[in-house]
Amino acid sequence: MESFLRERLNCLNCLWDKIWPPENPVVNVNTISSTVQHIYTDLVTALYSFDARSTDELTIEEGEELYKLSDEGEYILARKQTGSMESGLVPASYVAQSGLPGGHYTIQDPWYFEVASRTDAERLLMSPPNAHGSFLVHPSDSTPGQYSLAVRNKDKVTHFCISVSARGEFYIQNEKLFASIKELISFYKVNWKLVKSPLFQSCVWVAYQRDQWERPRIEFKLVKKLGAGNFGEVWEGLWNNKDKVAIKTFKQDHINESDFKKEVDALKSLCHKNLIQLYAVCTVGEPVYIVTELMSKGSLQQFLRGNEGHHLTAANFMHIISQVGDGMVYLESKHVVHRDLAARNVLVGEKLVCKIADFGLARLLKDDLYSLQCNMKIPIKWTAPEVLTYGKYSTKSDIWSYGIMIYEVFMLGQPPYQGMNNQEVMAKLTLGYRLPKPDQCSPDVYKLMLECWQEKPSQRPSFYEFVLKLTAIQHSVQ
Ligand code: AMP
Repeated sequence: MESFLRERLNCLNCLWDKIWPPENPVVNVNTISSTVQHIYTDLVTALYSFDARSTDELTIEEGEELYKLSDEGEYILARKQTGSMESGLVPASYVAQSGLPGGHYTIQDPWYFEVASRTDAERLLMSPPNAHGSFLVHPSDSTPGQYSLAVRNKDKVTHFCISVSARGEFYIQNEKLFASIKELISFYKVNWKLVKSPLFQSCVWVAYQRDQWERPRIEFKLVKKLGAGNFGEVWEGLWNNKDKVAIKTFKQDHINESDFKKEVDALKSLCHKNLIQLYAVCTVGEPVYIVTELMSKGSLQQFLRGNEGHHLTAANFMHIISQVGDGMVYLESKHVVHRDLAARNVLVGEKLVCKIADFGLARLLKDDLYSLQCNMKIPIKWTAPEVLTYGKYSTKSDIWSYGIMIYEVFMLGQPPYQGMNNQEVMAKLTLGYRLPKPDQCSPDVYKLMLECWQEKPSQRPSFYEFVLKLTAIQHSVQ
C-alpha cells in the first residue's frame, strides 16, 4: 500500500512521510525509485536469492528479473518488475545483466555472453569443455556500455577492453578500427597473433554448478587474522555482516582441484558435535574460502599452553580427550581418515568444548607439497611408522596420532619427543622406544596410549574400542 501510494502520488511524499516515517532517512529507496524510474533501461537477473537486512535493501529470489535503476558501488539499486514493484539495494555480484546495456547494440553471435563480470567470464572459459583458444565477448563490468573480450590462453584468461572511438568504431588496438564487434572478432580470429591470444572457438555456456554451500564472496568480510597454517590463512570473519565465522583462505595453486572438490563434498556430509562444522564455501575466484564455525579459544595447543591450561583438572583432561575420541569415532564410522590429528588441529570453545578441525584437508595439498620427499610438511612426530615408510594412511594411523595428542594434552601443549630431531625419533621408534608417561596421566590411560603406538596397525585399537575403554576408566575414577 505504502509503496503503491508513494509511487503513484509522489507529489504527496511529505504526507506519506508523515504517515509512514522513513526508518532510514539517509536512503529512502522508494523516493529514489520514484525520481529515477524514467532512466532505467537495464534488465538484470538474480543469480542468487538475497534477503534484505535493512529497509534500504531489497529481498530477491534466484532467477528473478529486475530493473536496474542505478549503480551504487558494490550494490545496485533495483526494482521488482511485478507484484509490489518495490525497489532497494542488492549486491551487484548477485545479479547478471539480462538485457543489453543501453540497448544500442544487439549481439547474437555465439561468442557473446551476458555474463556480469570478468570473474564469470573466467569461470566459463576455464570450465570444460572450454579449452585453449576459447573466447567470449561480454559487457564490461567497469565501464557500462562497453564490452570486453576474454580469451583463454592455456591455463589463463587474458582480457581486452573493446573501446569505442568518438566515431563509434570498435577497437582493441588503437590503429585497428572496426564498424562492429563482429568485424573486430572476425579480424582477430585470423590475426590472433597480433594480440598473442588465440581466438579459435566460441566459448560454450556451462551452467553454474552451485549448491547450497557455495556462497558469493561478498557475503563474507575478513575481520581479524587468526593465524596462518599449512594451507593458507585463517581469519575471524563476518557472514552477512552479522554472524561470526572462521574463514580459511586457500590459494588455488596450493590445491589439487579434483581432490579439493572431493574433500569438500566429504566435509559437507559430516556433522558431529565434536567436529568443526562447515558452513559454506566460496570457490568462485581467488582465494578459495572455507567457512566454518568459529571457536572462541583457538587451537587446543595454544589453549593448553596458555593461562587456562594451568588450571585444568584431571577430569578436564579426560573430558578433552574423550570429546576428541568421540569425534574420531564418528569419522571412523564414515571412513574418513584425518591424517593430521594433533592438538594444533583441535579447537576449543566456551565451556571446554573441543572440536576436531582440518579433517581430510591434508589431502587437499598438491602431492608435491605433501610428499614423503618433503619432510618439512609431514608432522613426523605425530605420524605412524607405516605412513612414513609406505605412505599408508588409515584410521589406524590416525589412532597413533591420537595417542600423541593425548600426550600433548597431559603435557599442557608441550611438543612430543623434546630434544630429539625427526631422524632420531624415527630411529628410536624402530627400536621400540615410546614416549614416557606424563606425570598427570594415570597408568590406565597411559596403557591405552601405548596400545595406540603398537607397531602393527592391526594391533592398535579402533577409535570405537578406545573410547569404550576410556569411558570405563572415567567411570571407575568418578
Ligand atoms: P590452521 O591453519 O588450521 O593451523 O589454523 C591456524 C590458527 O587459526 C589455529 O591455530 C587457530 O588458532 C586458528 N583457527 C583455525 N580455525 C579456527 C576456528 N574455526 N575458530 C577459531 N580459530 C581458528
